[in-house]
Amino acid sequence: MERRKLLLIGNGMSGIRCIEEIIKLDPDLFDITVIGSEPRPNYNRILLSKVLQGEHSFQEIILNDWNWYEEHGITLLAGEIVRHIDTKARYVDTVSGIRKRYDVLIIATGSAPFIPPIPGTNIEGVISFRTLDDCNRMTELSRSYSRAAVIGGGLLGLEAARGLLHLGMETEVIHNAPYIMNRQLDPISARMLQRELEKQGMRFHLSKNTTKIAGRTRVQSLRFSDGTQLDADVVIIAVGIRPSIELAQKCGLHTNRAIVVDDFMRTSAPDVYAVGECAEHRGISYGLVAPLYEQGKVLARAICGLESEPYNGSIPYSQLKVSGVDVFSAGEITGDDSNIAYQNYDAIQGIYKKVMMGEGKVTGAILFGDTSEGTTLLGLVKKGASVAELIPDEADSNDNASAADKAAATLPDQETVCACNGVSKHDIMTTIAEHGLNNADEVKAKTKASGSCGGCRPMVEALVHFTLRGSNAKREITNSESTITAKSAALPVCDCTDLSHELLKKEVQQLSPSFNVNRGHAEIINLMNYLGWNKETGCILCRTSIRYYLELLGLGADREIDSYSLLEEPLYRGVRVITGELDGTGGSVVQENLYRIAQRLRSEWEYVSLPYPLQAAVTQSTDSTVSVLVQGIGICSSPVGFEVYLGGHAKHPVCEGHLMGVAEDIEEAIRLATACLQWYRQTATYEEPLWNWVKRVGVISIRENVLRESMVC
Ligand SMILES: Cc1cc2nc3c(=O)[nH]c(=O)nc-3n(C[C@H](O)[C@H](O)[C@H](O)COP(=O)(O)OP(=O)(O)OC[C@H]3O[C@@H](n4cnc5c(N)ncnc54)[C@H](O)[C@@H]3O)c2cc1C
Repeated sequence: MERRKLLLIGNGMSGIRCIEEIIKLDPDLFDITVIGSEPRPNYNRILLSKVLQGEHSFQEIILNDWNWYEEHGITLLAGEIVRHIDTKARYVDTVSGIRKRYDVLIIATGSAPFIPPIPGTNIEGVISFRTLDDCNRMTELSRSYSRAAVIGGGLLGLEAARGLLHLGMETEVIHNAPYIMNRQLDPISARMLQRELEKQGMRFHLSKNTTKIAGRTRVQSLRFSDGTQLDADVVIIAVGIRPSIELAQKCGLHTNRAIVVDDFMRTSAPDVYAVGECAEHRGISYGLVAPLYEQGKVLARAICGLESEPYNGSIPYSQLKVSGVDVFSAGEITGDDSNIAYQNYDAIQGIYKKVMMGEGKVTGAILFGDTSEGTTLLGLVKKGASVAELIPDEADSNDNASAADKAAATLPDQETVCACNGVSKHDIMTTIAEHGLNNADEVKAKTKASGSCGGCRPMVEALVHFTLRGSNAKREITNSESTITAKSAALPVCDCTDLSHELLKKEVQQLSPSFNVNRGHAEIINLMNYLGWNKETGCILCRTSIRYYLELLGLGADREIDSYSLLEEPLYRGVRVITGELDGTGGSVVQENLYRIAQRLRSEWEYVSLPYPLQAAVTQSTDSTVSVLVQGIGICSSPVGFEVYLGGHAKHPVCEGHLMGVAEDIEEAIRLATACLQWYRQTATYEEPLWNWVKRVGVISIRENVLRESMVC
């Protein structure tokens, strides 16, 4: 059968990431053609700054080389510019006269540098910073000229300026606001950054409006609105970007600032999608890769006809890529003093941290000097965490572990560390343990974490340190269930102890009967003392883990344990069961049966403690509004009874649950679901989500166990 024709316009970061996702989902679904105006394979545009700064060669930043296209049967027309799209007859024409037909079209044309409407922007020696050609041009000019001026003191302008310094040019930065990176920083952090960059040789002209770039045959100087001027041989314009939407406009697609798309990246024409910087989602066109990669994943599933969570927008964050300077900014950083949740300025150490809030929730953060907490803070901003989560644990505040170590230890297991490549803390730690990795570069090679914008590099380094410390633990695992389980379970619970979850559980199991649970907090401290804790009072993570294992092993009545320490996090309790359109009234026998299953699960699991919050869906079919496939437990009717799914989640990247079995009647369905839950509860570690446990333990092993269990019951 002939495959459908998929055509991608734009051989850049977002378009090709989407193609990679499509190939992963179904390599044989489409006959793929890519048309890109740059005469080279797909490369990491972000790292052009590092190419300019002399830290990478072009070869090192290629993401997909020529072979990759060939290996996947993709036709690449590199160096071809699309000039026309016909959305009715479904074809595109290129400038050189090639016509390509499509069944499905993705537009990923990115952006072009914004050129301000001032005289002189077109004269020789004026360049923008977007492509490898721009980099090469700057390098070439640096051989003949010595004075460079960069218009724009934002991220891109500063990275270009750093590159020009590296090329040996005297570099002046002209910015129209009173402080640099004014969209990402506040005046204090911007001043700290400016001082650092001045030490490296940059000079700044703030609150300056350029009115003209002057020169007869080539650039000679810049003129400003206050009447002053500055001599320059080379001028870099880095004042922003404009989505490339001319093609879309000409063929009548709905556009605004960029091409308007819905939550599945669909444009106003059938089978035409847009992704990346050229797309506008809910009024926003993003200029950073992490959101664009998220869009690409959603689009890939939509194009492959798979169910997917809609794209709901992203929290932007940025990190300056200049060696020796650590700056991080995420979310909303503007607002008055009443919006500041936390601020610490240590001028001696050159460290600054500010966290912003709105309506009691963490909304943004700035870090300077030490950015190791960036990932943690980004996680809090993303989930709209309460500012209470920022309050340092009393026990933690006195120890002398570095902020990086603390951030690595307390980061939740499933938190995404590398947003560009969707790599979580758990992925990184298990990869380190399984492959015996020793540094962040090895982690990058295996997982891609920190391989794009590099913003998560401090956290990756901290996780390497944290994991290696744990693997040096003195105690050995004696009751491992499988090699992989043993390796990931070998990681320490947190920085306060060398004990892994497995060992901790085992130690708790062997407690002497004299252990008095009712003494609560004090007894937990005694226990930690007895187990040789590194830190006398532990932290909230290990204390809560101990409470969970105590309860799991029946060493404490549920309610008593929760009430004895009101200061602690409550344990996760009860399976949350959702039923969508089922409400138990009227309907068919099948619907009533499903409703009864839901009610039983709710009542039987209401107070039971769990390793991690868990949601179950009980509904008519896999197509109903509540998707059973992306829940921890999913139960739906089938022609022969009820299907029970396990281990799905709707969190990015979405993962479908695995079919555990088909039950003939209500009782069997409940027994099967209960056996899954029981086994998860018994064998998972605290804070381990169900989907993660399924991945770790293995579907076949779980299936064998729970089927045996549910038959015994
Ligand atoms: C120097 C630099 C540093 C950056 N640093 C960071 C960073 O630290 N963190 C971060 O998140 N982001 C950073 N970015 C931004 C990031 O690179 C972009 O967000 C990302 O590349 C956008 O991906 P895209 O696929 O939408 O566009 P692009 O990667 O620009 O790809 C679009 C492609 O489409 C092609 N094209 C356009 N029109 C046509 C046509 N008519 N026919 C054929 N082909 C066409 C273009 O030539 C281009 O190759 C940086 C950008 C630059 C330039």
